[in-house]
Amino acid sequence: MVNYRYLGNSGLKITEITYGNWLTHGSQVENDTATQCVRAALDAGISTFDTADVYANTKAEQVLGDALKGERRESLEIFTKVYWPTGPGGPNDTGLSRKHIMESINGSLTRLGTDYVDLYQAHRYDTETPLEETMQAFADIVRQGKALYIGVSEWTADQIRAGAALAKDLGFQLISSQPQYSMLWRVIEDEVVPASKENGISQIVWSPIAQGVLSGKYVPGQAPPAGSRATDEKGGAKMISRFMNDDVLAAVQNLRPIADELDLTMAQLAVAWVLQNDNVAAALVGASRPEQVAENVKASGVEIPAELMTKIDDALGGVVER
Ligand code: NDP
Repeated sequence: MVNYRYLGNSGLKITEITYGNWLTHGSQVENDTATQCVRAALDAGISTFDTADVYANTKAEQVLGDALKGERRESLEIFTKVYWPTGPGGPNDTGLSRKHIMESINGSLTRLGTDYVDLYQAHRYDTETPLEETMQAFADIVRQGKALYIGVSEWTADQIRAGAALAKDLGFQLISSQPQYSMLWRVIEDEVVPASKENGISQIVWSPIAQGVLSGKYVPGQAPPAGSRATDEKGGAKMISRFMNDDVLAAVQNLRPIADELDLTMAQLAVAWVLQNDNVAAALVGASRPEQVAENVKASGVEIPAELMTKIDDALGGVVER
């Protein structure tokens, strides 16, 4: 079963391995495979699910809502996000204006088949809308009961500080930040994590397996395995391309003996690694097959000894983004 962690300085507990459906539901995988992945997550003890209105242009929310139909709502934590356009792209169909937030939450709730989401996240920072307006809209959404908690995604340390201060003035709390974080991508460590800790905010980290790269299945000089994200021309291949170079792929292969030493698969090692950071509340994993979910959840509760953490840094050398 999967351990729970508190999300930020709140009473909300979430599964430290959380299932997300970017690039998969409504896009890379058929709906029945998506449903099987959600089933596998539930069977393995995952109760926290993350999506966004923009994933597969709203289809991902619909597929997740359908897959969760019949589950006890109180036993689930459902997260979604607002920012990008999901319609034909009128001037107001984007960003974090009051209008776009208020209209977007209603669409998300309908597609997800629920009266409220547990966490509503600003998918990016909107440099054009006054932050006061955005935070007031979030405060109202919480008061209306349409979202229980508010979070942000890919905000800088200064943006997090400013948002947290305004939220406090308005009588609610920002409790989460959703950035990219993995053994290969550690950009948050110097600024975002300290700013979050100061404000009682946890990280829910995306692409902990670096979109599949840290599973070790991409070998330098060899064609990517059939059916993998690197072969997905609907969008996945483009998104994963930042990691698909021989230096990165060769360095990743150096992690195999470390995973063996811990009796873990390389994907499990990658998920366990992000969970060693005490400001991380959850590793947000994706899957194109139910077997991957069953494999990845076994990273819950794994402790990586300090000497192996150092070995991991040595193994990856200069390919880590900081
Ligand atoms: P991961 O790093 O977990 O990559 C998941 C992909 O890796 C799977 O779809 C699968 O792809 C492959 N994979 C997973 N497990 C294994 C395994 N055991 N062995 C081999 N391959 C495996 O995360 P994602 O990039 O999918 O992101 C996870 C979630 O994070 C998203 O669903 C979304 O909720 C969130 N996210 C948020 C963003 C934001 O801006 N806030 C941005 C991006 C993601 P395949 O089998 O096709 O190769």
